[in-house]
Amino acid sequence: MSVVRGWCPSAHRPMVSGDGLLVRVRPRLGRLSAEQVLQLCDLAEAYGSGLIDLTARANLQVRGVAEADHAALLSGLIDAGLVEAEADREASRNVVVTPFWSPGDVTARLHDMAVDVLPRFELPGKVGVAVDTGPAPVLEGVSGDFRFETNENGAILIRAEGAERGHLVAEADAGAALEEMIRWFLDTGGEAAGRMARHLKVAALPEAWQQVPPAAFAERPGLGAVIGGRMVGVAFGSTDAGTLRALIRSTKATAIRVTPWRMLLLEEAQAVDVPGFLSDWDPVLEVSACPGAPSCAQATVATRELARRLADKVAGSLHVSGCAKGCARPATAALTLVGRDGRFDLVRDGRASDTPVQTGLSPDDILQQAGQASGL
Ligand code: SF4
Repeated sequence: MSVVRGWCPSAHRPMVSGDGLLVRVRPRLGRLSAEQVLQLCDLAEAYGSGLIDLTARANLQVRGVAEADHAALLSGLIDAGLVEAEADREASRNVVVTPFWSPGDVTARLHDMAVDVLPRFELPGKVGVAVDTGPAPVLEGVSGDFRFETNENGAILIRAEGAERGHLVAEADAGAALEEMIRWFLDTGGEAAGRMARHLKVAALPEAWQQVPPAAFAERPGLGAVIGGRMVGVAFGSTDAGTLRALIRSTKATAIRVTPWRMLLLEEAQAVDVPGFLSDWDPVLEVSACPGAPSCAQATVATRELARRLADKVAGSLHVSGCAKGCARPATAALTLVGRDGRFDLVRDGRASDTPVQTGLSPDDILQQAGQASGL
């Protein structure tokens, strides 16, 4: 049986996984300088297995850390400026931003405001802010309970996740609007729901906060040259210190920005192909799959081999999850395969925790179905 945990792991409070502790690093504005990347790689090798994950909220995770090495790793991350020294402040720094920001722009300013506001409240561990106020909105499907976006005229709005519309705010009032929405969430029992979208299924959001639709989402950025640098893909969002170090050295990137799409945006990078990173589109980039067994203690199935084999055989979005927690993709997928007791359940148009339409499938059953004319 899987255990669904109600808190969000942080560098100070790591999650126990099948391969040791999982230490989450939330780079400020999703950005690490080249020096910070190299420091992170050294720390991941010294105190972890060297494996590094990119998460669906544009964070990084150092895998395979022994309990005895956690304090030294944490100290190294704090010294590198990648983790706050104060545990509660680090835990509440749950802000995801569009990677297409510039120093001092509205996205950076709203990020800094949200980082200041969040520690004033005791919010459920996973609750956070999304700031999607770049040249085009791109954080479709990226979870963020309180969302700053723009309307079609470029005016800032705040929207509760789960509501189709938000309300316009002047930038100077954005902090007060965020505080007001957080207070409403807590005062109306949002803590029990744990997330805004779930809460809105039972609580009525004030009408005044549902007036303005955000601009339509742009297409997900591709690989290669993009605004601000070059984008490279990371299959399943899983890499390791040696590969990441080679990326920085070979491309001479001055910094990386972590995106929520299993892609890294390299600042001022040379166009060099680096083994372990995708510079051309590959169907595997569209597939979500957590590490599964044996890496994660909660998994009873291997996930990534099956995901690779299915990548070009499934028409819609695909998520292969080691268990019902669905770490690799909080959003819905057209098809989700969920490990349970050594086999897979199949969920259509839902999340890993939703009710399956088929149960007890083996990988061979699944591949056979995928190969048939009717498909999966
Ligand atoms: S979804 Fe995957 S990584 Fe998350 S707990 Fe389950 S098996 Fe582990």
